[in-house]
Amino acid sequence: MVTALPESPEAFKNATWEDILPFYEALASCPLDAGNVEDWLADWSQFESLLTEAATVAHFLYAGNTADTNREAAEVRFGTQIMPKAREERVRLQARLVELGYAPAGLETVVQRFRNQIQIFSEANVPLFAELSNLETEWSKVIGALTVEWEGEEKTPPQLLPFLESTDRDVRERAFKLRARPYIEKRSAIAGIFDRMYAIREQVAANAGFDNYRDYAHREKNRFDYTPDDCFRFHEAVEDAVKPAVERILERRRRRMGLERLRPWDTSVDPMGRTALKPFDDIDSFIARGADVFGHVDPDFRGYYMSMVDAKLLDLENRKGKAPGGYCATLNYRKLPLIFLNAVGVDDDLRGLLHEAGHAFHSIEASRLPLLFQRHPGSEMAEVASMSMELLASPFIDKRSGGYYDEDESRRSRIEMLEGIVLFFSHCASVDAHQQWMYLNDAGRDSRARDAKWLELRVRFEGEAVDWSGLEAERVARWYQQPHFFSSPFYYIEYGIAQLGALQVWRNSLRDREEAVRKYREALALGATRPLPELFKAAGARLIFDPDGMRELVTAVEDELSKLDV
Ligand SMILES: [Zn+2]
Repeated sequence: MVTALPESPEAFKNATWEDILPFYEALASCPLDAGNVEDWLADWSQFESLLTEAATVAHFLYAGNTADTNREAAEVRFGTQIMPKAREERVRLQARLVELGYAPAGLETVVQRFRNQIQIFSEANVPLFAELSNLETEWSKVIGALTVEWEGEEKTPPQLLPFLESTDRDVRERAFKLRARPYIEKRSAIAGIFDRMYAIREQVAANAGFDNYRDYAHREKNRFDYTPDDCFRFHEAVEDAVKPAVERILERRRRRMGLERLRPWDTSVDPMGRTALKPFDDIDSFIARGADVFGHVDPDFRGYYMSMVDAKLLDLENRKGKAPGGYCATLNYRKLPLIFLNAVGVDDDLRGLLHEAGHAFHSIEASRLPLLFQRHPGSEMAEVASMSMELLASPFIDKRSGGYYDEDESRRSRIEMLEGIVLFFSHCASVDAHQQWMYLNDAGRDSRARDAKWLELRVRFEGEAVDWSGLEAERVARWYQQPHFFSSPFYYIEYGIAQLGALQVWRNSLRDREEAVRKYREALALGATRPLPELFKAAGARLIFDPDGMRELVTAVEDELSKLDV
């Protein structure tokens, strides 16, 4: 022990930065050599587990009731005072480990990540990150203030989404156009913020010694196992192997709906005109039935799930005062995950629970690794865990398996999910290709050129199955609605890579479910201790950027769709 640690995260509940700093100082100043490095790492890991658990609990409580001023104060203390400073201290400790040259088995990938972050660090970028963060705040204020008037009521653009599922086509058209309108009206303001972000990002890259921001972003994201060229191959493969399937799916929808032309407001509604799926009436049955659904995938998952239920770590229902969105986080000290959702009784809520449960099971499987730093891989593998669970659990969402739907409804939910997976690749490729282009070309500085490029990419990846004529401004507005361009640049291709991994896990399960789930669990248990291709391999998958690999999986999805769609 290099320092005496508290007994539980409770000790940090009301901590200020002054209470936390001495622990980091002790870890930063104690003698460190090959003889005590393991103890030092264990202490550091344990300390971070206590601190991050206190922060995670504070955030979970606040998100559950944003009107509670005590909870808000704790959230602000952790979010703005403690955690940003802790991040700086962490970099100092990472540098100590890297300098020592200590990288035993199971820690190579951890040290590789630490070393990478140290290499791209530039003191000159610290104030630029603060400027970027201020611009992000400015951007989110502009977006947060966007409102529309819908039937005499003020609404936010996302609140119009349910109307896109209306069986009344006129309602859908009005909702679609109205949702895009504030983005069209505020286009120059939003594009202006983006111009400033773009300029700072270019400077960040130059300070870190990179030719362009794209190269910097790839390195900053610890992408050691695939390159920008692989991303370009991914785009081409989507165009080649996925776009025809997108067009087939949309053409089938058009015929089902008996329409001459499919317009953009026709793609979310049930094509048979049925009312929306309703997986549950009350939150208790939503939670309770999950145990059977996950138990069918693997009996241990039932146990994992029940341990979260028993510890009251599922806050699933939407209610007044709750923060929006959904997420899974881990209590690193107790080694238990929690799930936060805003369920209102729609099919997406069920999808959200299956998805977040995949993250939760990943966290539990990986928690057996001794050090916190070994447990969480990058988002490529993290999303394989969650996206696979959506697919693996989907055969058991029917009432006969203890789930939520009668047989027809279950089929309908599964069809929507599988079609959504195929359609998503077009969007994923558009978002990544747009960023690859804008940060590599001088024209990327020009907002008009960016909009024109987006339109070109949409046609390239989406094809012509939907008639966008007369809706150019609405189509352009789509990229302004995608937060990643503004707040998480280049963070998007991960979803596509992960979905291809998840589809392989699912395809394996069609042949031999037990074996597929066994491999899936083994891969999750490896946490972050192996490079990405090895994690994929352990799960029974490979990294796919090629058209043949994509085509094979898309064909498997279309085969399944034709079985379900009778
Ligand atoms: Zn996720």
